[in-house]
Amino acid sequence: MTNSEHGHGAAPGIAAKKLPHDLRIIAWEITRRCPLSCRHCRAGAQDRDYAGELTTSECLRVLDSMLPELRPMIIWTGGEPMYRPDILELVRGASERGFRSVMAPCGTLVTRKALQELKDAGIMACSFSLDGATAATHDAFRGVDGAFANVTRAMSIAAEINMPFQVNVTVSRLNKEELPLIRETAVRLGAGTLDLFFLVPVGRGSALRDLSLAPEDTDSVLRWAFEMDEQGPIRVRETCAPQAVRIWHAAGRQGRAPSGCMGGRGFAFISHTGVLQPCGFLDVDSGNLREYGFDFKKAYCHSKVFNDLRQTERYGGACGVCGFRQACGGCRARAYAATGDYMASEPSCPLAAR
Ligand code: SF4
Ligand code: SF4
Repeated sequence: MTNSEHGHGAAPGIAAKKLPHDLRIIAWEITRRCPLSCRHCRAGAQDRDYAGELTTSECLRVLDSMLPELRPMIIWTGGEPMYRPDILELVRGASERGFRSVMAPCGTLVTRKALQELKDAGIMACSFSLDGATAATHDAFRGVDGAFANVTRAMSIAAEINMPFQVNVTVSRLNKEELPLIRETAVRLGAGTLDLFFLVPVGRGSALRDLSLAPEDTDSVLRWAFEMDEQGPIRVRETCAPQAVRIWHAAGRQGRAPSGCMGGRGFAFISHTGVLQPCGFLDVDSGNLREYGFDFKKAYCHSKVFNDLRQTERYGGACGVCGFRQACGGCRARAYAATGDYMASEPSCPLAAR
């Protein structure tokens, strides 16, 4: 199957279908402009204006139709979401409509005043990315000197104004040995959670395919994450390593079970130009909000791609016959990057790689 076979299909303007009651989180790439040039960036974002970004009034129309009955949480992301001159208006608009908001700034634009204003507008928590435990390793990965100093300064400001924050780390062969040190840094800076994002080799990240962890290494980092989470003092979670579900059950662990791939199954992404995707890494047009008159609900309910992804029994290869198919699902973006088919088997799982 190819990308073109997975167009969103349904014509705009047709009657709304029954609502699939699964949407919990929407990540909204409110702008693609970014001051950094991270090596793994899914969007290849640059520090320049991008054509066709949604205007303030268009964004507010999207918010009006964003399924208040499900109350999904909005992650304001980018690019650098703080580059949007109307970001406070948008966050306030979300708060007024009853949505919870969190934000993923890169740190460069964070000042005490700006972060306090975002907090007052309704941002409940932030995430900051730290991909190395030192300025040398972090700045090399982020592509900008001073990125480490900036992001750690932003975290200190968040701590000062009591803005809860988590540290996100993109896990790759480059930093897997540094993870214990990155965790210590996160603890020292006052993070509540360390969230391990396993490298998905798309965008600039596709040049990093060789830097993705081997399937066995993914498993061992996940086991380390479970242990560290149990040990405290901060939570250690994993994102975009859906096979964590399998490892969790195999180890007979108790407590918080990890979640599998939520792409299109509980999670939706809106691009800077208003295109729906199952997640930011799965760059497949799943409905263009402009074509749907900025009606999020209609676009979401009619999305062929989202409906495909809910049918886990149609997944290919090992994932399609795996007992963890529903809970794990395999990373659809890695499957797509490797084969051009988002319904194919997940290449980074040892079960699928056999
Ligand atoms: S498709 Fe992959 S990158 Fe996207 S949410 Fe699922 S696990 Fe994460
Ligand atoms: S084969 Fe697929 S569904 Fe099964 S554990 Fe691996 S990635 Fe998950």
